[in-house]
Amino acid sequence: MREILHIQGGQCGNQIGSKFWEVICDEHGVDPTGKYHADGNSDFQLERINVYYNEASGGRFVPRAVLMDLEPGTMDSIRSGPYGKIFRPDNFVFGQSGAGNNWAKGHYTEGAELIDAVLDVVRKEAENCDCLQGFQVCHSLGGGTGSGMGTLLISKIREEYPDRMMLTFSVFPSPKVSDTVVEPYNATLSVHQLVENADECMVLDNEALYDICFRTLKLSTPSFGDLNHLISATMSGVTCCLRFPGQLNSDLRKLAVNLIPFPRLHFFMVGFAPLTSRGSQQYVSLTVPELTQQMWDAKNMMCAADPRHGRYLTASAMFRGKMSTKEVDEQMINVQNKNSSYFVEWIPNNVKSSVCDVPPKNLKMSSTFIGNSTSIQEMFRRVSEQFTAMFRRKAFLHWYTGEGMDEMEFTEAESNMNDLVAEYQQYQDATAEEEDEYDDEGIEDNYEAQ
Ligand code: GDP
Repeated sequence: MREILHIQGGQCGNQIGSKFWEVICDEHGVDPTGKYHADGNSDFQLERINVYYNEASGGRFVPRAVLMDLEPGTMDSIRSGPYGKIFRPDNFVFGQSGAGNNWAKGHYTEGAELIDAVLDVVRKEAENCDCLQGFQVCHSLGGGTGSGMGTLLISKIREEYPDRMMLTFSVFPSPKVSDTVVEPYNATLSVHQLVENADECMVLDNEALYDICFRTLKLSTPSFGDLNHLISATMSGVTCCLRFPGQLNSDLRKLAVNLIPFPRLHFFMVGFAPLTSRGSQQYVSLTVPELTQQMWDAKNMMCAADPRHGRYLTASAMFRGKMSTKEVDEQMINVQNKNSSYFVEWIPNNVKSSVCDVPPKNLKMSSTFIGNSTSIQEMFRRVSEQFTAMFRRKAFLHWYTGEGMDEMEFTEAESNMNDLVAEYQQYQDATAEEEDEYDDEGIEDNYEAQ
């Protein structure tokens, strides 16, 4: 069995992480005490349950999850919430100080003091695994703990487990949802880390999540609960291929191999269909063509970037529910044929799709989309502009230098993110003709050599 170890950190990370567990417990038939209830789908629910759960004595299923925070509040509410008892009590690791939305506190001072306690728990869980495939981390990039301490943990894990995969669910900040001005600093410092130390990042952009709630779902004042409902549906969809038997992207490494043509470009746009607000799912029912059409739509992307402004390097689609695989394949081919200019022609067959029989709760069918699109640079540009506006005047820098950080790290983070944007642009502009010229030369050389 190839296990995944889940880690959630900070307020946002703990909120979305615990929602994720609620959703997948439900899908696998596990109740809040860890007991399994058979419902006719047992083979599917149990076959790969060990990817995310440990089996404890008495047949209870316990999430392989580590929860960390620099303040006790969020974790207290998880512990007293509906699924609070399902987690292993020793796996709650928390401090009292808080990170005050300061990345430096999470990464270098307060977080650095707590990190060994977290690593001890991580090590213990890893040792219990038969063959650990990797880690998944849930966090926000705009605050101090999930962002600063989260990326510290990721770098420590990379050091100790260099050959395991690291997947992140990273929530990017938006001024539409938050009123802390330093978030672009925290996010940029985090991206700098994620480019180097994570293998695959699922981008969850609060700007897009807010827009979906406001424009599509017509919620006039979206709450974090509304945003998190979209996130948990997406996380369930993205991990479906890891949790249930199937062919495509069945582990973290296969997912990476299919989606990442260049190692730094591992930030994915994710889409979901049908979009629903909390409590309203039962009224939505779509056909395969409708699901396909919506899944590719910019309005369904959890990242504020328009795929039509860029090109897809690769993409993957997971359909869920009872449907015809043939129809899915036809619809997917149809999208690609009609929009061929939005797919780089120098990676043939760069779109994959699969069908999982088990639908999410309250839906007959759904689809989840993971795209590696060069248009994601729009989101990085947005954060970068906000970063540069403040950094030019060194505004708020004393909060970071006061924790011992050097201004140089800001400069490096800024240029690393700008380089990332330039790399996306470079591959967006790359055409097959350039490649052909190169190939032709190669062939001629070979002939001459003969
Ligand atoms: P931390 O506890 O220090 O890691 O700080 P937070 O997780 O509160 O980070 C603040 C950032 O996370 C801001 O960009 C918030 O908008 C965002 N955020 C906080 N809680 C949530 C949440 O429950 N859902 C979502 N989508 N974003 C959140």
